Amino acid sequence: MDLVTIKTFFYDHETVLYEPTFKAEGIDYILKDQKTVAIDPLVSNAIGGIKLQVRIEDEERARALVAEIEANNSGTQLGDVIVLNGQKYEKTLEECPTCESEDIYVYKQSFFENLFFPFAKREHYCKNCKLKWS
Ligand SMILES: [Zn+2]
Repeated sequence: MDLVTIKTFFYDHETVLYEPTFKAEGIDYILKDQKTVAIDPLVSNAIGGIKLQVRIEDEERARALVAEIEANNSGTQLGDVIVLNGQKYEKTLEECPTCESEDIYVYKQSFFENLFFPFAKREHYCKNCKLKWS
């Protein structure tokens, strides 16, 4: 069976946007090296990340699907978390400095980012006016 890689992910959680859509569309896929990265994200770079692979006959559909997901990726809502460009943002109780909306999300650091950069400035996102700030 010939497989083709159509997308790579650095972090395990980034696949969350793609898997349900691929399942819903009935495209068989594998996430190569997902388990390795989930266990040890630090090796992700060395092995080239997680590879989303499909059968070569599904390549065209799969690529169109990825393009569609990425085009729609300006706020995928999953409860109190939204996903922007593959990054998770979680709801916060702050107010937008521009439009005073309280629909504000803050970049959700991964476990490892928290470990190594616990005091890093986190990007905020206003769902109302789309403003981003740190
Ligand atoms: Zn705003």
